[in-house]
Amino acid sequence: MKKITIAIDGFSSCGKSTMAKDLAREIGYIYIDSGAMYRAVTLYCLQQGLFNEKQVDEERLAAAIPTIQISFKLNPQTGRPDTYLNGENVEQRIRTMEVSSHVSIVAALPFVREAMVKQQQEMGKAKGIVMDGRDIGTTVFPDAELKIFVTASPEIRAQRRYDELKAKGEEADFESILENVKQRDYIDQNRETSPLRQAEDALLLDNSHLTIAEQKEWLASQFKRLTGFDEMPNEHKNPETNPQ
Ligand code: C5P
Repeated sequence: MKKITIAIDGFSSCGKSTMAKDLAREIGYIYIDSGAMYRAVTLYCLQQGLFNEKQVDEERLAAAIPTIQISFKLNPQTGRPDTYLNGENVEQRIRTMEVSSHVSIVAALPFVREAMVKQQQEMGKAKGIVMDGRDIGTTVFPDAELKIFVTASPEIRAQRRYDELKAKGEEADFESILENVKQRDYIDQNRETSPLRQAEDALLLDNSHLTIAEQKEWLASQFKRLTGFDEMPNEHKNPETNPQ
């Protein structure tokens, strides 16, 4: 069975990762969360004191970029891939509001994007990959066979993020989450390098009123329509290369 490349782009907190991760697991593909890579670079900047308010010290970051190693490893406890920054597990730390409110600034820097895109293209060379982000169908894998662009209203996305944080027992304020969602949308759509936009050949999915199960089903049907294949038998799934 010929493997394809699946690019899932869209606005923040749209449930892209959930659907991408689940599909990858079902069809035995590798899953890569490209947003986690930009989050890890942002955490690095915060740890190294490279931020002055909302400004990054670009010179120091540009000098450090070649030394920043980002990788993913299966967490057997959660059954999901954890993000590592220079060998350290940073999965929890990259999901904080502090990182969320600085990440779009770092992700707008052309030299950061260049370095991340290069790594992402390397990861997808052998195909059989599901990657989610903002520029996967437009810049990282413009030739991807299946491209999806996911959207939902800012209020619905903020509510989902709020529920997620609350469920983890974390402090959450709906208004500041909504503000962060809108601010990230604005920066992501208006930056000069690879702004967030729907690729011409991407399928649009507005999931404002879909359940996770309905959304998963829709995605699986798109994959099936394209490849004609349902689910990969278990023995063909490789946990080493499919760390969900
Ligand atoms: O997907 P997630 O919300 O975790 O991504 C965090 C941020 O990283 C986004 O708000 C966006 O600014 C940036 N990003 C990006 N390009 C990608 C993935 C994420 O610019 N491919």
